[in-house]
Amino acid sequence: MIRSFESASARRFSDATAATARVAAAFEGWAPELTALITDGETPPVPRLVYKLPVGHRWDRWPGVTLLGDAAHLMSPFAGEGANLAMFDGAELGRAIAAHPGDIEAALTAYEEAMFPRGASAAAEAHRNHKLFFDDRAPFGLIDFFTGALEGRHNENARA
Ligand SMILES: Cc1cc2nc3c(=O)[nH]c(=O)nc-3n(C[C@H](O)[C@H](O)[C@H](O)COP(=O)(O)OP(=O)(O)OC[C@H]3O[C@@H](n4cnc5c(N)ncnc54)[C@H](O)[C@@H]3O)c2cc1C
Repeated sequence: MIRSFESASARRFSDATAATARVAAAFEGWAPELTALITDGETPPVPRLVYKLPVGHRWDRWPGVTLLGDAAHLMSPFAGEGANLAMFDGAELGRAIAAHPGDIEAALTAYEEAMFPRGASAAAEAHRNHKLFFDDRAPFGLIDFFTGALEGRHNENARA
């Protein structure tokens, strides 16, 4: 199924000029400074599928083995958290191993107990943002989201 999506996408982008025009047409009426990001590129557009694991993905403990970063909780990039999580996972895994000298199973159990909910929380945020970016209301859902965040901050400043 993924292969057929990939080859269908590649076929749709095989004519670079036509593909660029099709993508730009989806942004008709947008500011020229923004559409130039599509039309003025120096390389042909390449379609990339966005892969993700289900929110809350986890596994049973497997002796001597664990995962971190995208391998553990691959999510769409719309929370901007994947690289942060990968680095944090690495630091936390190191910390768990140091805290359980001679007992790697206890270390990996402690690491995974904290990593699963941490990954699930960011994955849920990415999933929510993914919908905001691409649903039928886009980009207005996203504008509402940022406007709400800004108003929240202003209200907090006003209270301070
Ligand atoms: C478009 C986009 C935007 C993003 N924006 C953000 C952002 O703003 N902020 C943020 O925090 N995150 C962002 N991310 C997510 C971030 O890039 C990833 O979550 C992060 O790179 C995951 O790090 P990782 O080390 O787990 O995996 P990777 O970076 O995928 O590293 C895995 C490495 O293993 C190598 N590898 C795979 N198989 C083998 C093998 N068999 N043998 C040897 N090597 C192998 C791969 O080549 C790769 O170099 C974004 C991702 C995308 C796609």
